[in-house]
Amino acid sequence: MPKPSFIYLDNAATSWPKPPAVADAMARFLAESAGNAGRGGHSLARAASAVIDKARAAIAKLINAERPERVVLTHGCTDSINLALHGWITACRHKSGGAKSHVVFSSVEHNAVGRTIHLLELEGAIDSTTVKCDSEGFVPAEAVLAACNERTVLVCLSNASNACGTIQPVGDVGRGLRARSPDALFMVDGAQTVGHINVDVQRDCIDLLTIAGHKGLLGPTGTGAIYVGPRAFSDDCNGGGARLHCMRSGGTGARVPGLDMPTELPDALEAGTANGVGFAGLLAAIEHRPHGASEHETARIRELIDGLRSIPGIRIHGRQTADGRTPVVMFNLEGFAPRDLGGLLDGEFDIAVRAGLHCAPLLHQSLGTAPDGAVRVSPGFATKPEEVARFLDAMSRIARAR
Ligand code: PMP
Repeated sequence: MPKPSFIYLDNAATSWPKPPAVADAMARFLAESAGNAGRGGHSLARAASAVIDKARAAIAKLINAERPERVVLTHGCTDSINLALHGWITACRHKSGGAKSHVVFSSVEHNAVGRTIHLLELEGAIDSTTVKCDSEGFVPAEAVLAACNERTVLVCLSNASNACGTIQPVGDVGRGLRARSPDALFMVDGAQTVGHINVDVQRDCIDLLTIAGHKGLLGPTGTGAIYVGPRAFSDDCNGGGARLHCMRSGGTGARVPGLDMPTELPDALEAGTANGVGFAGLLAAIEHRPHGASEHETARIRELIDGLRSIPGIRIHGRQTADGRTPVVMFNLEGFAPRDLGGLLDGEFDIAVRAGLHCAPLLHQSLGTAPDGAVRVSPGFATKPEEVARFLDAMSRIARAR
């Protein structure tokens, strides 16, 4: 157990604590339902399947998916992003006979997206265009649409920056893309938004939405999902429409004779034993989400921004107000390397923050904070106003002692 004095301000990395219902549900699953979901007709396997089905349905409802089967369960958001990128580029290569495709992404993307695109580029499968964010960490929709050409098959945009919190105009990009480049899919990285803000795949014309279970949704690590829309995986299973290529083949439990993968969602993209205990926890987190969690987090972010702005030597990066952001704020203190400041907060004050590049090197290049990065503070539903005050007091003391 962390000491009572411990303050956790690193919820953008993974949320902590989890609602108590999460650990209870996981323990109950292991004791009562821990068969292999979808495998075997006995009662324990059926109990595990019921949990998985409920978790899938709960995620589908949250993001307004057409049907639960369009939610494929994964091991995390990186897993989902790899499936989206490798799966769609492979499908496009098969269709075009190997021609190089074009991908558009932005400078706010997490390495899960940026490095995967870089890898595909090194392999000669794609070329890409990076759209730079402005000084607030915002990527204008018009700039994203203007970067598309006749070879563009995929546009990737993070719903919000994991480093500075700026929320991106995904609805404007999604609707604009359908109108102007109907052959290109729109992938939204929802790691930092699903759970925090309303995300609606149909309203915002999103074809692929990647989700982390362990951040804003308050579930355990090792859980994630990807929404796969009709333009990414057609309901026509006779080879007529688009089909995201499956990147992990294997057993699914579905009754398919022979060596072909099933053709129906979610089994077509979901090989291997599901993380039943993890999804039992995620289901409980969604069902028992603390009342008013998002409002609480926004209130703490306001206190943090107001407090940081009043400390001499502190510079907030990205948006300067609490509007249009997730519960994340990023800053530097003049005269301090971000990693030293993070170490001081941890070692001397028992406060957990994240210092460095936050797996978002291009964002730091755009904002002028590379190569050292900055300090990121991210409160959660359980962060108390007194904890924010203690953090601000620690920062004032460090700033005065410079
Ligand atoms: N995208 C973004 C924007 C993220 O913040 C993260 C996690 N830091 C990821 C992707 C990867 O998520 P996971 O750790 O669940 O694989």
